[in-house]
Amino acid sequence: MDDCLFCKIIKGEIPSTNVYHDDQVTAFRDIHPAAPTHILIVPNRHIDSVNVMTRDDEPLIGHLFLVAKQLASREAIAEGGYRLIVNTGPQAGQTVFHIHLHLLGGAPMKHPMG
Ligand code: AMP
Ligand code: ZN
Repeated sequence: MDDCLFCKIIKGEIPSTNVYHDDQVTAFRDIHPAAPTHILIVPNRHIDSVNVMTRDDEPLIGHLFLVAKQLASREAIAEGGYRLIVNTGPQAGQTVFHIHLHLLGGAPMKHPMG
């Protein structure tokens, strides 16, 4: 996707604070952190949102979670707890239409809704 912000970050065309990269997934720090640790974990292959996921995407999305677990441990937030969020669609606040997992932690969080 030529005009996708996260595709450009993955390709290195836009700078980011990269924290992880492999053949399937890239992770970088959110530019507007909502918690002491706020990392976005993004598949290298463009998928708009959960709404257009297919069976073929299942292993990739599972891999996102395993990378999240690894990064939570590396950031020393695994024991204290963290939150994984996938905003889907405008009412949920999705602003970048390239599927991504938010990894948030490092401070106590309020009730998840809202
Ligand atoms: P969402 O609202 O779930 O679509 O999440 C998009 C996230 O991308 C927001 O938390 C933004 O702060 C973050 N973001 C936008 N532009 C950048 C960027 N250039 N580098 C890192 N994070 C970004
Ligand atoms: Zn993209």
